[in-house]
Amino acid sequence: MSLRVKIIPCRTDNFSYMCIDSESNAFVVDPSEFVPVDEFIKTNNLNLKYILNTHHHFDHVGGNIELKEKYGAKIVGNKNDKDRIPGIDICLTEGEFFEFNEYRAEIIDIPGHTIGHIAFYIQSENIVFTGDTLFSLGCGRIFEGTPEMMYQSLNKLKNLPENTRVYCGHEYTLNNALFLESVIKDRDLSEKIESLKELYEKKQPSIPTTIKAEKKLNFFLKSNEENFKNHLKMNEANDLEVFTYLRHLKDTF
Ligand code: ZN
Ligand code: FE
Repeated sequence: MSLRVKIIPCRTDNFSYMCIDSESNAFVVDPSEFVPVDEFIKTNNLNLKYILNTHHHFDHVGGNIELKEKYGAKIVGNKNDKDRIPGIDICLTEGEFFEFNEYRAEIIDIPGHTIGHIAFYIQSENIVFTGDTLFSLGCGRIFEGTPEMMYQSLNKLKNLPENTRVYCGHEYTLNNALFLESVIKDRDLSEKIESLKELYEKKQPSIPTTIKAEKKLNFFLKSNEENFKNHLKMNEANDLEVFTYLRHLKDTF
């Protein structure tokens, strides 16, 4: 029986994810706030066992304490962020696993947006939770790390199997696509923009995406491609310089 992942929209554009096993035991990834997550738990009669955080920002940990108090759930996060993640109980580091019944989520260090940012990768389910590092058609802003850190973190995620479903922290996809289009016109991208507009009209999320889809259209994963460098007239630049330039353009978009 596979793990079910349910999207809980929070705040204006955050996603929290409820992962549910066949017996209604559950863990939530990045509970942005208490109320919508609590409502979801009550409506679906779940036993919330764990709270997983990708990083310490308030829009990812906002529901931690109230959910922990109400449900007795244990909070899982990066050991290196133990002083910044509210209520943390279980501290893990790169290469370790969070275990939930028969499911194992590998901790992958992906610093850049914040220094302590991690991803949770469940290989058996082909699922990765990427927080504010890899977005659909974009990547997170670099607040605490360096462009090089972010570039390497994205490369780690890019190397996951192509059929991996990507659950990221925000619904930024359309804005990201419009930014990419401002950099290079591309027919596939234009089609994607049209389908995203339709989704948004129906108020449906664009998540999950897949590693395969991101490798195809997300320019932030293409800075090593000669074709892409050609388009930007940056043939002489190295991959990191191309990535850094792109990230800089996005910061002021
Ligand atoms: Zn963040
Ligand atoms: Fe965020």
